[in-house]
Amino acid sequence: MVVWDLLGYETVGRAKRDQEGQAINAQITISLDIPDVRVLDIGQNDRGDCTITVESTLEGTKCRKCGREIRELHGVDEWITLRHLPILSRRVYIRVRPKRYRCPWCEGGPTTTQQLAWYAPKSPHTKAYEKYLLLQLVHATIEDVSIKEEIGYKAIEAIVDRWISGEVKWAEVKRVQILGLDEIALKKGHRDFVVIVTARSATGEVRVLAVLPDRKKQTVRQFLEAMPKRVKRAIRTVCTDMYEGFTMRSRKC
Ligand SMILES: [Zn+2]
Repeated sequence: MVVWDLLGYETVGRAKRDQEGQAINAQITISLDIPDVRVLDIGQNDRGDCTITVESTLEGTKCRKCGREIRELHGVDEWITLRHLPILSRRVYIRVRPKRYRCPWCEGGPTTTQQLAWYAPKSPHTKAYEKYLLLQLVHATIEDVSIKEEIGYKAIEAIVDRWISGEVKWAEVKRVQILGLDEIALKKGHRDFVVIVTARSATGEVRVLAVLPDRKKQTVRQFLEAMPKRVKRAIRTVCTDMYEGFTMRSRKC
């Protein structure tokens, strides 16, 4: 049996006895990778997926009308369920009831739902899971990922759409050793291709830097030119399945 000891939550260690009657300590610790939450419960649904119930530990929100910080709790919204990163190949769902606050200054006392940084409004996934899916798309197709993750084609396209932006918080980007540029074909729609830009650090960690709206040379060039010198200098290889001809050394991967 695996017992998850999640971020900010102490589980009681459980042990399973094997045939010889010896206790096997099978407890592991996995970070939930979600800030500002308290885990209330860990369970399993009918399919054997892991369900983690959490509550926000943040207090207050900004009034949607006047923008002021409000702290008068009005209650909680309906449950929302968000797919999160898998644990040991199991699907994981986070359940949360968003908090709602009332504004004492605005006329009629309108209420505002607290928005948390780790999921986008109306998205059925956590941002961490969406980033994970984007990474799965590298060297794969949307169909591949759709089958592997058991998630609809359109849902993945919607995620790709949501993440399209050439903007990168470069201050948060550590030393990039290998820059990856992978074009992803989309079905007929308003776009044919997007480019997923990934960064591999010296320690081998790979992360998605950006999703570019098309595969035009100009778009890619603009992205590369906007890259700070510090980052550019450290890059040893540009790994791409696209055309060659960047200013930096590139190779087909
Ligand atoms: Zn207000």
